[in-house]
Amino acid sequence: MEIDFLLIGQGLAGTALGYRLKKAGKKIRIYDRGDQNQSSRIAAGLFNPVTGRKMVKTWNADLLFPEIIPFYKELEDLTGQEFLREQSIYRPFISIEEQNEWMGNSADPSFQIYLKKIVQDSQSPELNDPYGGVILKNSGWLDINPMLDAMGEYFGEDLVPDKFEEDGLHFRDGFWEYKGIQAKALVYCNGNAAKQSRFFGFLPFAPVKGEILELRQDYCPDYIVNRGVFRVHLGNGIHRVGSTYTWHDLDQGPTESAKNELLERLSGLVNLPVKELLSQKTGIRPATRDRKPFLGKHPTEQSVYIFNGFGAKGVSLIPFYSKMMFRFLVEFQPIEDEVNITRYFNYI
Ligand SMILES: Cc1cc2nc3c(=O)[nH]c(=O)nc-3n(C[C@H](O)[C@H](O)[C@H](O)COP(=O)(O)OP(=O)(O)OC[C@H]3O[C@@H](n4cnc5c(N)ncnc54)[C@H](O)[C@@H]3O)c2cc1C
Repeated sequence: MEIDFLLIGQGLAGTALGYRLKKAGKKIRIYDRGDQNQSSRIAAGLFNPVTGRKMVKTWNADLLFPEIIPFYKELEDLTGQEFLREQSIYRPFISIEEQNEWMGNSADPSFQIYLKKIVQDSQSPELNDPYGGVILKNSGWLDINPMLDAMGEYFGEDLVPDKFEEDGLHFRDGFWEYKGIQAKALVYCNGNAAKQSRFFGFLPFAPVKGEILELRQDYCPDYIVNRGVFRVHLGNGIHRVGSTYTWHDLDQGPTESAKNELLERLSGLVNLPVKELLSQKTGIRPATRDRKPFLGKHPTEQSVYIFNGFGAKGVSLIPFYSKMMFRFLVEFQPIEDEVNITRYFNYI
């Protein structure tokens, strides 16, 4: 059977790119080994225009954010399911200086599309926010598991729930042959597993382990609270709280130290006891050394591509960059230098 693109991986990256290709009439197959610990299935799914301890606009926010809501809404319309949660994010200030700085930001037109309100007083006795904070808009979270499942159904037979093994791959007469498929091109959307690939092992991935909790606690505002830790209300008094960042211990298991770190940070934010700890999950983010994604074509192999390296921000990055990757693959448009893997061709 002849196809245009064989994609490896149906996490957020493979799903978004696969959708764009299929929508354009391309014949695709997506192999996914159904790893429940993949980054996408563990992620909290937040999209947050102001990130980090210093609360700065996230990298490329003005390009990325206009694409996020329309893209996931399109997938909701396609599947008839709801997984996009548009929600404000409340970021308490840690000092009066920070409050002043944000009063200044509020006059800056480039912040207007992300700023709902700046509040100078505490929003609730349950919160540790004596200096008030900034309430962000154009933010929220994506319920990723139902989204991947719904898109899996949309792909139907084009999604093969099996492990892709390079040993079975051969290049013959201008096609990549794999288990009876003849593909014109391969696209690696397989997260951290790309490091083990014979094609993309040279790229400087810098995987980051993350742990995340679900717990019961009172106080269920209609916004996400985010300072040191984020807390998303999932319904029925259950909250998702995360995440940790670890570069050294990359095994998959949950750790006591991460649990304690998250609970301690939470107690610095919410002045209420945790009633019950429901789960602790871990995943490895497919991050890169320069914190920019990996898009592009292998330097020498014919028709072997990568769409990967979305680190801690796949939900925000993938709508915009899947469009860029699609245009590269189908319309032969260029990929921006800062995300193009050409930046690492001297590593081979
Ligand atoms: C704890 C935690 C919290 C996070 N929170 C957020 C957040 O709030 N917001 C946000 O934007 N991002 C968050 N992320 C990051 C987010 O998960 C990633 O940016 C994104 O999901 C990466 O998607 P991906 O498709 O590139 O990779 P993955 O999700 O890893 O998908 C790769 C896929 O390839 C498949 N695969 C690999 N090898 C093979 C093979 N040989 N054969 C077949 N299939 C294969 C895997 O099964 C998997 O399905 C978080 C991550 C973690 C771990």
